[in-house]
Amino acid sequence: MTETIRTRVAIVGAGPAGLLLSHLLAAAGIESVVIDQRTREQIESTIRAGILENGTVDVLVESGASDRVLSVGHRHDGIELHFEGQGHRIDFPGLTGRSVWLYPQHEVLKDLIAARIAGGQDLRFGVTAERIEDAETDLPRVIATGPESEPIVIEADFVVGADGSRSVARAAVSGSHTGGYFREYPFAWFGILCEAPPSSEELIYSNSPNGFALISQRSATVQRMYFQCEPTDDPEALSEGEIWEQLQMRVPGTTLQQGPIFQRDVLRFRSFVAHELRKGRVALVGDAAHTVPPTGAKGMNLAVADVMLLERALRALLIEKDERPIDAYAEQALRRIWKAQHFSWWMTSMLHVAPDASDFDRLRQVGELRSVVESEAGRTYLAEAYTGWPFA
Ligand SMILES: Cc1cc2nc3c(=O)[nH]c(=O)nc-3n(C[C@H](O)[C@H](O)[C@H](O)COP(=O)(O)OP(=O)(O)OC[C@H]3O[C@@H](n4cnc5c(N)ncnc54)[C@H](O)[C@@H]3O)c2cc1C
Repeated sequence: MTETIRTRVAIVGAGPAGLLLSHLLAAAGIESVVIDQRTREQIESTIRAGILENGTVDVLVESGASDRVLSVGHRHDGIELHFEGQGHRIDFPGLTGRSVWLYPQHEVLKDLIAARIAGGQDLRFGVTAERIEDAETDLPRVIATGPESEPIVIEADFVVGADGSRSVARAAVSGSHTGGYFREYPFAWFGILCEAPPSSEELIYSNSPNGFALISQRSATVQRMYFQCEPTDDPEALSEGEIWEQLQMRVPGTTLQQGPIFQRDVLRFRSFVAHELRKGRVALVGDAAHTVPPTGAKGMNLAVADVMLLERALRALLIEKDERPIDAYAEQALRRIWKAQHFSWWMTSMLHVAPDASDFDRLRQVGELRSVVESEAGRTYLAEAYTGWPFA
């Protein structure tokens, strides 16, 4: 027996984008159903983003989704750019009046899921969307399968694809799963989580002749660090000693606090923007619409910025019957998306060593880094982009 559900907004994906959208719509009196193919435990334990822009924190706090971000999260007022053996601090409040917060994505997800459940919202785990039909009608539908393989159909006034980088919703919007502007990078990040005290108070982004490293934190006892590696590297191939050697040689002058490594992964780098973000009554948000390399810490923040625009557009469409904001959604979202794409590409290319880099390339890169840290205009551009441009 097929279960048919009728709602106003069907949201595929309980990541930061889908959950926040549902939370904001509920506050505006618009009912939604959120489905996710994973279990709650899987969603709440996946380690991903860690840096929240100033505007993202404001949205979480002002919407009542999270106050823990302010009590458990850590405000960071700068980062260090490290090259030629020296660190150069970028002072965010001094340059822009804004900061970022270190608050892991899975904590954001715990807050959003708790808020959804407390609000009695329909949030279903273990439900997989197979496809979206009838995008160009007034009653688009999500064809899905439940935890026991039972068929489920969700009929809605509007469907949102918040289903991440392998989006199935994309096919209903742009005609294919892969259609978009795409760039792949010839390197990846070897990421670790370890039990150790922090090695520095703020994030260190290091460009060294041996390749890039990022020294980042999670808590007083758990740290997250990355170093540049080959996209094909096997995360299990290195011993713990070899991993620490790789990291330490890339941050001369900083003594890394070492401890047992309990998670390791290789993260490939891609830039992607879907050709279309909306078709009829289906729209894409977050990683379903775009992917950025993680160097600029933009992925989750960009998802939140999409949601802010789409939520306003859905309110206008579903409450006031005003189609103008939804018609403008893609164009408005793409302005920020391409700025964030540029920033993420720029940070990536400025800080990593390309496999075919010549001496000229290496020295030019140092010249570029000096142009940033020795100029207030250069530092301000980086600080504005990193802490996040104001929402449209
Ligand atoms: C290692 C790493 C580090 C990162 N660091 C940062 C950072 O510091 N700052 C930052 O801003 N960003 C960072 N990012 C990016 C950030 O994690 C993503 O941009 C963010 O998760 C996007 O949110 P989303 O809701 O769009 O998609 P996702 O978080 O991917 O959520 C999509 C959800 O959809 C579900 N789903 C998928 N397909 C289906 C289907 N067919 N049916 C039902 N459900 C489905 C998935 O299970 C998932 O829960 C990082 C990413 C990685 C991998």
